[in-house]
Amino acid sequence: MSRVLIIGAGGVGGVVTHKCAQATDVFTDICLASRTMAKCDRIARQLKRPIQTARVDADVPANVVRLIRRFKPDVVVNVALPYQDLSIMEACLATGTDYLDTANYEPPEKAKFEYRWQWAFRKRYEKAGLMALLGCGFDPGVSNVFCAYARKHCFDEIHTVDILDCNAGSHGHPFATNFNPEINIREISQRGKYWESGAWHDTAPLSVHQTFDFPDIGPREMYLMYHEELESLVRNIKGLRRIRFWMTFGEQYLTYLRVLQNVGLTRIDPVDYEGHKVVPLKFLKNLLPEPSSLGPNYTGKTNIGCLIEGLKNGRRRRVYLYNVCDHAACYREVKAQAISYTTGVPAAIGAILMVNKVWRRAGVHNVEEFDPDPFMEQLTRRGLPWVVREPRRGEYRIR
Ligand code: NDP
Repeated sequence: MSRVLIIGAGGVGGVVTHKCAQATDVFTDICLASRTMAKCDRIARQLKRPIQTARVDADVPANVVRLIRRFKPDVVVNVALPYQDLSIMEACLATGTDYLDTANYEPPEKAKFEYRWQWAFRKRYEKAGLMALLGCGFDPGVSNVFCAYARKHCFDEIHTVDILDCNAGSHGHPFATNFNPEINIREISQRGKYWESGAWHDTAPLSVHQTFDFPDIGPREMYLMYHEELESLVRNIKGLRRIRFWMTFGEQYLTYLRVLQNVGLTRIDPVDYEGHKVVPLKFLKNLLPEPSSLGPNYTGKTNIGCLIEGLKNGRRRRVYLYNVCDHAACYREVKAQAISYTTGVPAAIGAILMVNKVWRRAGVHNVEEFDPDPFMEQLTRRGLPWVVREPRRGEYRIR
């Protein structure tokens, strides 16, 4: 029986806490810690069993060390912001504790996410006999597991992967982001990037798009973006010829985003305002609805999956693996919308597999490095059933 420390009491943190609390056969003790104590206590009040809560500023490793020494977790689940990844990884090393997160580090002053800062911890984690599991949400996370499953069960060679992320839900706000607004807008306004024939190719932000007919949802416009799992999958799926990431956006969302960009509200450099330094995007984040507040009126579904092509027994094959998740059903179960749910459930599953030693290897690892089967089995069991289908000729085509 194990102890889990969850850091970050936002939309995703709420779901991880609910799901760990449901796993009574795995976690005897749970502590939810975040910058704002009231948010931890609000989530704790939703649960059927008692948990501990704590206030922590995780930007400072010493604060996290103190908390870990007091609570003594077997694993720390970091669902605060990517800015805290390195300080929490340091604290885990200092205290001999395993680590898991859902988003890779990016420096606050530059919107550039890469694994290199976290992969640099490899030798120290190996030497300490500790494990860090990176990017264990949905995408990254389940998208990586789907690739590992396809590699193990469906293909002898994987040639192309397209990761397709569709949110066809409606939250009733004119403009809101489904996960942390600051991180979300930084990601979406970056240049697009995909990997083909051994090289990375750049595209202007959201300039490449096409319509795709999503199962259970229907046709939606999806846009090519850079996403962090592309970096690890290019390394870990041998023989890959091309990998791309696509996300759907509605016209209204894109119009708001363009206006905010044009007036300078998505800038991440400090500007002088009446003698104060203000980062416009941080200010905007404070005006926008919190992801954890979107749930009550959210309707519609998400469909996130991987369309994969390659060879099996010398013949060309296409396989589409995906999950469909319903916003309202998530809210009924854990008081969260589907984006928080599809991220929080895999994070809880990763923590369960780690403490049960099903996925346990010293070092710093990405999800696709492990056997996908136990994870896929847990996905169905813990609320994210998946579909694997072989499209007919002409079905689910992508250019
Ligand atoms: P929220 O903004 O809802 O929550 C973030 C939480 O982190 C807040 O409670 C915030 O506290 C807390 N926090 C921020 N800074 C600190 C700090 N210095 N110390 C302690 N706590 C801190 O975001 P989400 O829950 O939507 O997202 C959480 C993470 O999940 C993000 O890193 C995001 O990128 C990732 N994610 C991953 C996905 C995937 O599929 N892999 C998909 C969606 C999200 P406060 O409330 O005080 O601000």
